[in-house]
Amino acid sequence: MAQTNSERYQLRKLRHPEDLVAEQKRWREAHPEMPRRLNARVRLAALNHYTEGRLGCALCHFSDSRALEIDHIDGGGCAHRRELKRGGGHDFYHWLRKNNYPPGYRVLCRNCNWIAYLESKELSNDEG
Ligand SMILES: [Zn+2]
Repeated sequence: MAQTNSERYQLRKLRHPEDLVAEQKRWREAHPEMPRRLNARVRLAALNHYTEGRLGCALCHFSDSRALEIDHIDGGGCAHRRELKRGGGHDFYHWLRKNNYPPGYRVLCRNCNWIAYLESKELSNDEG
């Protein structure tokens, strides 16, 4: 009797679970780009969400997604990223997705984000 791929997979999983673990490991090693692709997709989805599909910086409308990032409108982005710990930025995009893209964020290009950061620093220096 012919088996579907899925049936064969289920049978092997029952008979030789260790094979599948090894196979998954081999697959991951053969496709090191996959997590990167997933991260890129999750990042782009977040950028699209916060720009309502018009991908671009909220201040200068620069639209090359490679230089766009999410900005925490009330500041505190760094603190939040520290909170998420593992760092690297991608966890932040995954976090946004998992939390249904909470409000309070906008998309800025690296330039505008950096300028906004410097200005907020200047402001806090003036106060203190
Ligand atoms: Zn900008």
